Amino acid sequence: MKHIENIYDLLPEEIEELINKIVEALNIIKDRKNTNSRFVDSEKTLIVCPRCNSEHIIKNGHDKNKVQTYQCKDCNKKFNACTNTLVSHVKLTYEQLLIFFECMDDKLSIRKTAAKMNVNKNTVFLLRHKVLDCISIIRENIKLRGTAEGDETYESINLKGTKKENMPRFSKPRSSNNGNSKRGINDHLVCIASAIDEYDNFFLEIVGTGPITSLEVEKAFSNRLNDVTCLITDCKTSYEKFAKDNSIRLEQVKSGTYKNINGYSLGNINSLHSEWATFISRFRGVSTKHLQHYLDWFSFQKIISYTTETLKRPLTMMKKATVNKCNINSNNVYDNSSGIDFNKVYADYNYSPLTN
Ligand SMILES: [Zn+2]
Repeated sequence: MKHIENIYDLLPEEIEELINKIVEALNIIKDRKNTNSRFVDSEKTLIVCPRCNSEHIIKNGHDKNKVQTYQCKDCNKKFNACTNTLVSHVKLTYEQLLIFFECMDDKLSIRKTAAKMNVNKNTVFLLRHKVLDCISIIRENIKLRGTAEGDETYESINLKGTKKENMPRFSKPRSSNNGNSKRGINDHLVCIASAIDEYDNFFLEIVGTGPITSLEVEKAFSNRLNDVTCLITDCKTSYEKFAKDNSIRLEQVKSGTYKNINGYSLGNINSLHSEWATFISRFRGVSTKHLQHYLDWFSFQKIISYTTETLKRPLTMMKKATVNKCNINSNNVYDNSSGIDFNKVYADYNYSPLTN
């Protein structure tokens, strides 16, 4: 290729030749697995040691794929920007990863995504849960301020995909006067605590089963609602203790009424819950052990859609997910990450999902 001083000096056929060469080069580069590493390396604003989190890092040459490697000055670990992210040990090309995020943005099934990426379903399943693990940090760090609405929503327990040995144990029927007889069918519902503020910051987090308790409100709301000055809830007493302990003005709205006497309503949290219901209905039965991942997915999509135009969403999702630490691998992806002890939930019932 001759050296080009000014592209306007070229003849049309020379430009066409150039375009063809550029397209060819683009396809080769997209196909290289080390493009993933370069992508993560360029997206990370801060490189820290994946072993000890130290920021005392020096550059330490390049590996055989020409990817920058680093060394920790504190613990001597050698690593690259991808170590412990979702793309480490992933044998997918940059192009395949981008297709994955396009499918995710379209909420396609695992089967359809696998067909588009030309990989098997297990690869997609693992990648999906790796991505969802990587974005859970967004929920963990979310902060609400000003006026916020808090309410809980419920989902039925779903044991789909739970290994036989992890299924709730068969238990003998207990007598009705053992003190636990008040436990109702509600205990078979997963309780999701949630809140949204006037700036549309929000979270949805599994806190347990059955009606929400003061302790569960405390667990989900403390650290996130420090800068909230007014909290709007329904009339459950579980919210009263939190508001009192944290000196937050509480405005409660009676069920069946739209606004309370001061004009406050739960309109925003109710529409968040109905958006979630629409989102989850696409997936026809999500196992409870993966439910938090789907709540995080829903939240991630919603946050991205606030700030990013439709066509740029898949790449934005890829940028945000790949820079975070990933704790999921092929050995733990099937584990129960809901935090719910199914044995405890079913302990009071003469119930065995193995035989039902
Ligand atoms: Zn280190």
